[in-house]
Amino acid sequence: MLKLQHIGKQFDGKTVLDDISFEIGTGEIMSLLGPSGSGKTTLLHLILGLTGADRGSIVFGDEDLTRVPMKKRGFNIVFQDFALFPNLNAYENVVYGLRNKKGLVSPKEVQEYIDFLELTPHLNKKIGELSGGQKQRVALARTLVAKPKLLLLDEPLSALDGVIKESIKQRIQSIAREFKLTTLIVTHDPEEALTMSDKILIINQGRIAQFGAPQDIIGRPANEFVEQFIIKQLRIKRQNIFNLFGEMYA
Ligand code: ADP
Ligand code: MG
Repeated sequence: MLKLQHIGKQFDGKTVLDDISFEIGTGEIMSLLGPSGSGKTTLLHLILGLTGADRGSIVFGDEDLTRVPMKKRGFNIVFQDFALFPNLNAYENVVYGLRNKKGLVSPKEVQEYIDFLELTPHLNKKIGELSGGQKQRVALARTLVAKPKLLLLDEPLSALDGVIKESIKQRIQSIAREFKLTTLIVTHDPEEALTMSDKILIINQGRIAQFGAPQDIIGRPANEFVEQFIIKQLRIKRQNIFNLFGEMYA
């Protein structure tokens, strides 16, 4: 279980996160949803340990991690731009983090993650030769082979579209389920959050606008912001889909 209490963060005197508290259970998928600049990435980096909190606490299981450095937290992240090494091939990227950790993961286990993400045909390719979806799968494999206790994903679908987006989405869900891995996903897309997660934390300008299961948020938006941001965007999207496909049925 991951529990944040009263987390606050300022950058250069400007409040970026204000009084963020929530709890999620082992193996759950949670989305951090909000518009651009609302503090989502900062919150993810705080949990990872890349950024320190000004106030509040972060507890994982029965361990207080608030002052524990990143390396000792045992969490891992897939950055928004994947952050893969362009001069290495796909396989070298996947195992890069294991070079100082002999014995942590057996070659057989590495192969299992590679099979799971269907990367075998691409292992010898340079990063520049991979498609967006393939890069995302390499980034996921690299993160998973380190056996993180918590999986953090920053906008994992934003560079993808169509069928590829749908397939990565399903893969992330099955990773969380199969490995019982607690997963936090940053997104600005309400549809992604609503269809992928057990819980959604909606943030607006560094504050919690609502925290709940997708059906609570759809059924009982807590305030005007949630109503506007979620419901309207979904309606607009549906309208666009209707405009696109409606003609075909007209
Ligand atoms: P999001 O991921 O929701 O788009 P971020 O967490 O990246 O939002 O940023 C939230 C706010 O914090 C923005 O106003 C951003 O400019 C500011 N910010 C983020 N990182 C830093 C930093 N290292 N130094 C100064 N300001 C930052
Ligand atoms: Mg961000």
